[in-house]
Amino acid sequence: MPDLKACLKLRAFWELIRGCRCQICGLVQDSVRDHSVLCPGCAGLLRMRSGGFCPDCARIYALEDTFAYTCLECRIRPFSWDEMGFFGAYQGLLKDLILEFKFKGDLGLGKVLGDLLAKACRMHGLTGNDILVPVPAHEKKLRERGFNQSLELARILGRSLNVPVRKQALIKQVYTPAQSTLARKERLKALKGVFLARADQVESCSVLLIDDIFTTGSTLEECTRTLLKAGASKVQILFLARSI
Ligand SMILES: [Zn+2]
Ligand SMILES: [Zn+2]
Repeated sequence: MPDLKACLKLRAFWELIRGCRCQICGLVQDSVRDHSVLCPGCAGLLRMRSGGFCPDCARIYALEDTFAYTCLECRIRPFSWDEMGFFGAYQGLLKDLILEFKFKGDLGLGKVLGDLLAKACRMHGLTGNDILVPVPAHEKKLRERGFNQSLELARILGRSLNVPVRKQALIKQVYTPAQSTLARKERLKALKGVFLARADQVESCSVLLIDDIFTTGSTLEECTRTLLKAGASKVQILFLARSI
């Protein structure tokens, strides 16, 4: 009969090395039953949006069970990407985690968010692309923040899907200050020529373009156009959250 104390010690040690604490709230989890990194409480607050959004730009409709119809703006001015996928609306716990990750540099949360992105990628059927390309940050922004959140997410996703990440495929050659007050059309105009794609990295490749937040879609649209002009065969986009 094994000694109970020794068993408990062994289990505590096992939990320690397995890291069986919720990565968000720190709650210790039952490692025997649940190998997930999130506790049921936090996982419940991070449910993937399964319906009630525009299939082209993820515009969120009031009800989740609304039939997935293309929104008016997408019907007037369609975006250039082929398909899109996302995890959920930019609100609640998802919003808090993204802000924490992005502005406080909490890279530990990158893994949690990367896993959510991988889940969304599979749910939206975007797993068959040749390469992953993160939306780039300008050098000045990189110096301020120290990292590019889209690249961190793409790296985690790349490992999960076993798809290469081409971080040099797209660069941001012009610094643009925050433009959240501009409408989509003005933003797109302001982004003309801001990105540069390397043909030798993207030619004839199907690309999955990665970002954290979709606001007006102008950045993703300009990046998509730039990649297509450089010879990408197809561009699909994947992001964590859609602003509402
Ligand atoms: Zn938790
Ligand atoms: Zn739309």
